[in-house]
Amino acid sequence: MKAKTAAATDLVGNIGSRVDALRRELVVFLQKLVQLPSLPGYEQKAQYFVADKLRSLGLAVDILSSEFDELKDHPAFCDDGVPFRERLNVVGRWHSSGQRRTSKSSGSLILNGHIDVVPTGSEDLWTDSPWSGAIRDGQLYGRGSCDMKAGLTANIFALQTLQAMGFRPAADVLLESVIGEESGGVGTLTTIVKGFKADAAIISEPTRLHLCPVQSGALTFRVKVTGRAMHACMKPYGVSAIEKFYLGLEAVQELERQRHIEYKNPLYEDPNNIAPVNFGTIRAGEWPSTVPDELLVEGRFGVLPGEPTEAARQAMAVALQRAASTDPWLQEHPPQLEWFEGQFESGATPADSPIARTISESHTKVFGAAPVVQGVTYGSDLRLFTNHGDTPAVLYGPGNIFDAHTVNEHVDLEEVLAATKVLAYIITQWCGGDFN
Ligand SMILES: [Zn+2]
Repeated sequence: MKAKTAAATDLVGNIGSRVDALRRELVVFLQKLVQLPSLPGYEQKAQYFVADKLRSLGLAVDILSSEFDELKDHPAFCDDGVPFRERLNVVGRWHSSGQRRTSKSSGSLILNGHIDVVPTGSEDLWTDSPWSGAIRDGQLYGRGSCDMKAGLTANIFALQTLQAMGFRPAADVLLESVIGEESGGVGTLTTIVKGFKADAAIISEPTRLHLCPVQSGALTFRVKVTGRAMHACMKPYGVSAIEKFYLGLEAVQELERQRHIEYKNPLYEDPNNIAPVNFGTIRAGEWPSTVPDELLVEGRFGVLPGEPTEAARQAMAVALQRAASTDPWLQEHPPQLEWFEGQFESGATPADSPIARTISESHTKVFGAAPVVQGVTYGSDLRLFTNHGDTPAVLYGPGNIFDAHTVNEHVDLEEVLAATKVLAYIITQWCGGDFN
């Protein structure tokens, strides 16, 4: 117990020097992880690499296969079109020491991260291969480096650091490496459906070590507008689907503007960009001098935090109906709205919840200043934990979202080390425990 007292007096300092001592090993691990191209459907090698690492730390490792039949009836399931073949998730459990929990400790903890990465785009545009893991000026490069193999690595090395210090948690710590986050959350949903649970979850997405307890949602949609084909020389006798769509476009843009005027949330930096609406693809017509008789547009409709998904869908449908009611052709040929693929709800954990407070206090201990607290405008697995896993969850991790999904994606190694230190400290504060 002498050792415990000594460690407790300068826990932050001790964790800091332990993480620094592991720096080389941590960097090599992250580099190797980036060098395994874990594109959707091809995450197996990277997952086995993670599983081996977790076993080497003495964790009880489960490899969970995401199965279509097991997920298809779940309300949060979105079929992402990736074949359900060997879609493997890894969960490592650091069992609690079984000692009585101290009053300060709050319970078990999930550290979650996704292994899947988005495609590279044209590899010619990259300075190095997207799978190089090259290091320059303290930045590690490659697809997935920032989003979010850095966060996964920080999770794992936070645990390794504490083990090296002889720490034994008073409640279980679960390390989750999941697939399918980028395309709808199949992996985290699998862990929830299979009953893996804890008193809180931290997802170490690239938040630049900002504390993000709230996420907007995003719904993928398709709108079909019909017109009437005609030779362009007789245009007034045809109906242009492109020109008719313009009414719908304006109506939805106005709706987006109104929704941002009416909705207030101080956690969002830009009040006009909380639940953006994007028209992402458009296809219409087939000949320059034919009046186009069909237009198909696909996009993404943002869901405001706390807004039921159905209400968001309804808002868009009503805007389109209103636009159509002003036009005789559209009254008779209303635009067809359809929702498909990614349907991400919003999700939130109160900013003053125990897990958010623990992260904030731990961050403050390590950096001497409180973290920025903000909401994010993208969908993430946070919603699955809060809405379907009965688990408070927040995003907190290394890397800048501006560097994610980009050519020459990279992450600042100092920030990865800093994240590792805070995460290790968080475990000691949230789970409680002692040092041998
Ligand atoms: Zn991510």
